[in-house]
Amino acid sequence: MKIVAVGAHSDDIEISCGGTIAKAVKSGHEVLMVVMTTSEYTNYTGRVLRTFDEAEREGKKAAETLGAKLITLNFSTKDIPYNSESVEALDKIFNEFQPDIILTHWPHDTHQAHRNVALASISGGRHFNTILMYEPMMPSGRSYEGFRAQVYVDISEFNKIKMEALKAHKSQYKKYGGDFWLGAVEARARLRGFEMRDEIGQCKFAECYEVMRLKLSL
Ligand SMILES: [Zn+2]
Repeated sequence: MKIVAVGAHSDDIEISCGGTIAKAVKSGHEVLMVVMTTSEYTNYTGRVLRTFDEAEREGKKAAETLGAKLITLNFSTKDIPYNSESVEALDKIFNEFQPDIILTHWPHDTHQAHRNVALASISGGRHFNTILMYEPMMPSGRSYEGFRAQVYVDISEFNKIKMEALKAHKSQYKKYGGDFWLGAVEARARLRGFEMRDEIGQCKFAECYEVMRLKLSL
């Protein structure tokens, strides 16, 4: 199977689907990560919070940790558009890769770049039958809408490698509070694991998706 995961920034995919990707790769599936922007940014005072070199280096290491291929596009970190340019960029990648599953942001995320990537993925993926939207994860995702967890993936065996991939994003790890941040990401996965358990304690960690479109193979 071929899976493509699309994210606005270098670390978005790992936070929400790192366990799913590591599990898919271990099972022999091919996974491509597409990061839409160069991911360097400043705050409103102009202070640099992440350089391009940092983002590129950290993103490559994280993708290697998960065992996925990585493509980085050149859209602006904060102002990625939802227009023909972003849609066609994904159109091209999807048509060349022919994914069985497209994973992307959730369109009600509070980050404008995340929202536009979700919309561009849905438009770019209009000819593909399965699009799942991954759960918005801290520090993003505090929305006025509620995420509906509809598809669960047991990542009990892969949470550790997901955490390693997140630690590869050294600049973000430092910025968001190190293990305090990772603890929050892990706690969400624990909650989702508890929700999907078949027997108590059987599923320690899980990741969730909301369905945009799903092909059911019987
Ligand atoms: Zn992001």
